[in-house]
Amino acid sequence: MLTGKEALAFLQNEMRAHPSVAFLDGAGMSTPSGIPDFRGQAGISQVASRYGLSYERLLSVDELMEDPATFFDFYWNFLVHDKAEPNAAHRAVAHYPGPIDVITQNIDGLHQKAGSKDVVELHGSILRNHCLSCGAAYSLEEIPHHGVPRCPKCGGIVRPDIVLYGEELDYQALCAAEDALEESEILIVAGTSLRVYPAAGLIYSSRAKAKILVNAEPTPLDSFFDAFVQGDVANILPEVLK
Ligand code: NAD
Repeated sequence: MLTGKEALAFLQNEMRAHPSVAFLDGAGMSTPSGIPDFRGQAGISQVASRYGLSYERLLSVDELMEDPATFFDFYWNFLVHDKAEPNAAHRAVAHYPGPIDVITQNIDGLHQKAGSKDVVELHGSILRNHCLSCGAAYSLEEIPHHGVPRCPKCGGIVRPDIVLYGEELDYQALCAAEDALEESEILIVAGTSLRVYPAAGLIYSSRAKAKILVNAEPTPLDSFFDAFVQGDVANILPEVLK
């Protein structure tokens, strides 16, 4: 596996002819927008422990059903950043001159805000919500951003359309991600610890001729890639996706 300057040169060389790209990312893509990740150096894992619970528990369907007040306290304080704007990395992806399929683990909607179309949201989006009792749908703007949101129609709990621990990923999103990964010439994986499954395991669907990881720190799956460009997505992606 190439690293350092060789890895960057390899990536820049591979991108020269604007090949088709499958781009899979995670929370590190949005840290330059001011949204903390979970497992990075400034991640929110310590914050979660202030509740005396792991974030896997705080963001689980069991927590939502058994203690919605705690679930939503954590959710509003640490996961919803509705004033966040796309950063240079999101914009580089959106303006890539070749074909690009964006597959994200993020729930912040920033790829679409930057202009990317047909984004596969593996873990859903905070922008969409629905009532657990009557199913009525609500945008983020339509619900209060504190406490347990209640449905104005029936009084049921309104939950975000995000995939919680203990829930399965949307089948259509998984299939769309696998198709994109099988068909692309280049795989770029960026800003993810590759520790959350099944999302991390999707990389094995790739048949790309070059597989590149762009991340601030090593991951457990580094050896799968041809090159590892270590650094900030907001510096590296604008340099290569052009
Ligand atoms: P993670 O927190 O486990 O890992 C993030 C990785 O990105 C770390 O390895 C970190 O070193 C790296 N990183 C951080 N900032 C970076 C930068 N500027 N440039 C390059 N690398 C950077 O995140 P994950 O792998 O996505 O898994 C966490 C889960 O939490 C995901 O499923 C995601 O849905 C959810 N999450 C989403 C958001 C969001 O939507 N913005 C934020 C936090 C968590």
